[in-house]
Amino acid sequence: MSILVVGTVAFDSVETPLGRADDILGGSATYFSAAASLYTDVKLVAVVGSDFPMERVAFLAERGVDIRGLQVVDGRTFRWSGRYDYKSNTTETLDTQLNVLADFHPTLPEGYAASDFVFLANIDPDLQQEVLEQVPDARLTMMDTMDFWINTQRESLVKTMSRVDVVTLNEAEARALVETESILTAAKWILELGPKLVVIKRGEYGCVKVDGNGYFTCPARLQEEVKDPTGAGDSFAGGFLGYLDKTGDLSEASLRQAVVHGSAVASFTVEEFGVERLRNLTPKDVAARYREFQEFSHLAEW
Ligand code: AMP
Repeated sequence: MSILVVGTVAFDSVETPLGRADDILGGSATYFSAAASLYTDVKLVAVVGSDFPMERVAFLAERGVDIRGLQVVDGRTFRWSGRYDYKSNTTETLDTQLNVLADFHPTLPEGYAASDFVFLANIDPDLQQEVLEQVPDARLTMMDTMDFWINTQRESLVKTMSRVDVVTLNEAEARALVETESILTAAKWILELGPKLVVIKRGEYGCVKVDGNGYFTCPARLQEEVKDPTGAGDSFAGGFLGYLDKTGDLSEASLRQAVVHGSAVASFTVEEFGVERLRNLTPKDVAARYREFQEFSHLAEW
């Protein structure tokens, strides 16, 4: 089994209360692939410019990620810069330069369309739909997004949401999209569009999975140091979908386990700037952290 992901491969510049890093490897597809490849085969679709040193993604190829779908075109690579405020649990985008992303049209190399699971990572919702159209037989489709697309492409974004099985986004984005204070109201509004499941990420407060039957919440692991939260959402998605693809089980119990896997992988991502912590992470490390989650959220019979 395998997961097809379309998203960004980027140069990021980030500022957090614990430091800053400039022009480091980032992008939604990068973080997702680094996380999901701990579980299963990943096929990546993205674009970079001629300024991108391909050796930066060599570690993904070494982990078995299929990077034939990474197009290299003349021009500059997508760039994002942001600043994090831990007191308000918010991310401020300082700059977004689409560059080669502006004219990108995803084409799937041979074998990609046969993937069971498809992750439409944070990218232009028009491109998310272009990929969806090329995978009519996918067993499960999931999408993520960001304030940039909510603000610039709302209509197209809502259309993509109405065509996937699972929507994930963070709480500030959910509130902005639906114009409500309640994340439960926001999740229900998104479910009305058609998805079976919504996962709202809440940064240091964990996440909540909502479907037609109710909700399940998972706390985040408490960390003494969060060096850089960038990519926590994408690596959450990587752990979540990676686990589901590996087991092939979409029962409620398995979905809850997948939420914990996503949260466990994301808890590693934030320990270092960029993708550094994910480079040498092993399934064994994730398994140990999964057990920590079981322990700190365990509730005895009453
Ligand atoms: P996350 O922190 O998991 O929500 O995602 C962070 C990654 O998303 C960064 O590495 C950025 O390069 C990438 N990113 C930021 N803005 C956008 C955007 N508008 N579209 C696609 N990817 C983006």
